[in-house]
Amino acid sequence: MTDHDAAVAAASGRGLHGVRQPPRVVVVGGGFAGLFAARRLAHGPVQVTLLDRTGVRLFQPLLYQVATGLLSEGQISSPLRRLFRRHRNVECLVADVHDVDVTTRVVHARRADGTELRVSYDHLIVAAGVQQSYFGHDEYARYAPGLKSMDDALVIRRRVYQAFEVAEALPTAEQRRPWLTFVLVGAGPTGVELAGRIRELAGQIRELATRTLREVFRTIDPGEARVLLLDGGDRALASFSRGLSGAATATLQRLGVELSTGTRRRCRPASTPCSGRGRQPWTGGL
Ligand SMILES: Cc1cc2nc3c(=O)[nH]c(=O)nc-3n(C[C@H](O)[C@H](O)[C@H](O)COP(=O)(O)OP(=O)(O)OC[C@H]3O[C@@H](n4cnc5c(N)ncnc54)[C@H](O)[C@@H]3O)c2cc1C
Repeated sequence: MTDHDAAVAAASGRGLHGVRQPPRVVVVGGGFAGLFAARRLAHGPVQVTLLDRTGVRLFQPLLYQVATGLLSEGQISSPLRRLFRRHRNVECLVADVHDVDVTTRVVHARRADGTELRVSYDHLIVAAGVQQSYFGHDEYARYAPGLKSMDDALVIRRRVYQAFEVAEALPTAEQRRPWLTFVLVGAGPTGVELAGRIRELAGQIRELATRTLREVFRTIDPGEARVLLLDGGDRALASFSRGLSGAATATLQRLGVELSTGTRRRCRPASTPCSGRGRQPWTGGL
C-alpha cells in the first residue's frame, strides 16, 4: 500500500480494509488529452487521480499572445483543481512523474518540495504531451527559448520588451539595430503566429510612440524593427495545404516579416542575425 493509498482511505473514512473501493484510474498530464480523459471519467464509477507537474491547465495555442504581451497568464491558464472542484471522484495533485512500475502498478512522482509520492492504480493513462525539439542542438536553448510552457512565454515576453526598452535608450539607429532584430527559427504555426505578432507589436509601439505614449517612446522608430523567420523546409506552414501556406506567406510579407525558407543555419552567439544580441525565439519542433 502506498502512502497515497493510505491518505485516500483515511479521507474516505472507510479505513484501509473497509468497503470495496472503485477502480482507481491515474492520469498523468493535465493538458488537452489528460483533461478530456479525466472529464469523461468524472461521471463514471471510478476514482480518478490527475497528476500534473504544474497543476495548471494551459491553453498552448494562445501562448504566443502571452509571449507578446497581448494576454496575461491567467487568461490562458486555470488551476486543474478549480476545473474539477465539482467532481468529487477526481483529485488533482501537483507532482512530477518520473517512473511507472507496471508490475506493482505504482506511479512514482516527486512533489513540488522534492519528496517522493507513490500512487497505485488499476488503470493508467499517460498523457504527458511532447517536448520541443532542437533537432540535436540542445545548446541552442540558451539563446533561443522555445514556446511550450508558460515559463517559456514569459522569458520571450521579457526579452522582447527588454529589447525595445534598450533600443529606446540608445542614440543611433546603428546601435539600436541589433536590439530591434528578431530571428525566429521554424515557420510552423507557432513561428508564423509569433512572427506576425512581434511585427504587429513593433507597429503598435510606433502607434503608441506617435500617439498615446508620445511622451514615453521618443527614440524608437518601429520601422527599424526586423523580424526574420527562418525555416529549413521549402515553405511556411509546410504541414498545411499549399493554398494556406501561400496565404500565410502573403500575410507575413504584408506585415513586413522577412521569411527565408530552405534555410539551415548554425547558431553562432557572436554573429548576426543568429546572434546573442538579436532576439531569437525557437519555434520549431513543437
Ligand atoms: C505555441 C503552441 C501553439 C499551438 N497551437 C495549436 C493550434 O492552434 N491548434 C491545435 O490544434 N494545436 C495547437 N498546438 C498543439 C496543442 O497545444 C497540442 O497538440 C496539445 O497541447 C497536446 O495535448 P497533450 O495533452 O498531448 O499535451 P500537453 O497539452 O502538452 O499536456 C501535457 C501535460 O502533461 C504534463 N506533464 C508532462 N510531463 C509530466 C510529468 N513527467 N509529470 C507530470 N506531468 C507532466 C504537463 O505539465 C502538461 O500539463 C499548439 C502548441 C503550442 C506549443
